[in-house]
Formats: sequence, structure tokens, C-alpha cells
Amino acid sequence: MPATWRPAAFLDRDGVINIDHGYVVRPEDLAFVTGAPAAIRRLNEAGYLVVVVTNQSGVARGYFTEDDVARFHDYLRSELAQHGARIDAIYTAPHHPEAVIDAYRADHPDRKPRPGMLLKAFAELPIEKEGSFLVGDKASDIEAADAAGIPGHLFQGGDHGGDLDAFIAGVLALATTNPVSGEDR
Ligand SMILES: [Mg+2]
Repeated sequence: MPATWRPAAFLDRDGVINIDHGYVVRPEDLAFVTGAPAAIRRLNEAGYLVVVVTNQSGVARGYFTEDDVARFHDYLRSELAQHGARIDAIYTAPHHPEAVIDAYRADHPDRKPRPGMLLKAFAELPIEKEGSFLVGDKASDIEAADAAGIPGHLFQGGDHGGDLDAFIAGVLALATTNPVSGEDR
């Protein structure tokens, strides 16, 4: 199937999509940030590829496995589907420099603030870099966006009632007011 190239909206997970209780991995610990399903549906409808990029050092620390994370992500996707919202891809960075599990002890290029997950997505998915952006709740998210050469938008307060849909609507309005000229492409 020929792929249509589209800009991507990269979303951090904890504190942006789900409330960050710390090392969230059990389905019963999934609580959406206010407006998160609506925001993702808004991005779907606006034609963005929605790509989640999430550090999960709980794997490196031995709190849970990559399979546990994958199962949680299946559950996350099914809950979003009930709101008509879809995540197109999820990239996870399970490493940490001080991992207790040898296989995950690394200053890995995928772990934000490094841009490895974003660069992988650019290589693997039909993403048009022009118009792509990231939304995250930490400086390390924004650093990863900078390093990948796309704008990063800092969304904070998601754990305390902040509305992701209102925030994303603002980001998209900004993109419409400042359209890419296309002259340098
Ligand atoms: Mg976060």
C-alpha cells in the first residue's frame, strides 16, 4: 500500500497521555490526562501520524519487563479506541545507565534527551519532518525534539488537571498561523 507522507505529532507518554503515578505499567493504573483521548483524536483527524516516544527505565531497574510495557500499551490503545483515538506507533527506551539488569545498562541513544526514538521513527515511518512537532512535560523531551530538528512544546500540569486537548489545539492553531513556506524544500 503506498504510504502517504504526513507530519508526525510525537507525544511523550507519562504526564502527557496518562497521569504519571511513577512507573505506570498495570492497566488499573491508567488514568488519562484530561483531554488526552480528545487531543489524540484531534491529531488523527488533522492528518498527523501520532507517535509516542517514552523512556521506560522501569525495565532497566527490574520493576517490569518489556512484555509488561507492551501489554500496557495494548491496553492503552484499546482504551483510546473507545474514544475514537488512535496511536500510530509507540517507541520505548528501556535502558538506563544505572540499570540493575545488565542488558539494559547503557547510556542509550534512544533514551531522551537523546533523539534516537525520533530518528528511528523518521527512518521507519512515512513522516514528513516539515510540520512535525513533539509535546512533552520535561526538559529532556524538548531536548530530544531539538536534537531531532523539530519544535518541542512543553506541556506541564497534566498530572494536575491540565487539559491536553486545549494545549494541542493551541499548537495546531500556531501551525496554521505560521505555515511552512515550502521555499526551502
Ligand atoms: Mg513525561
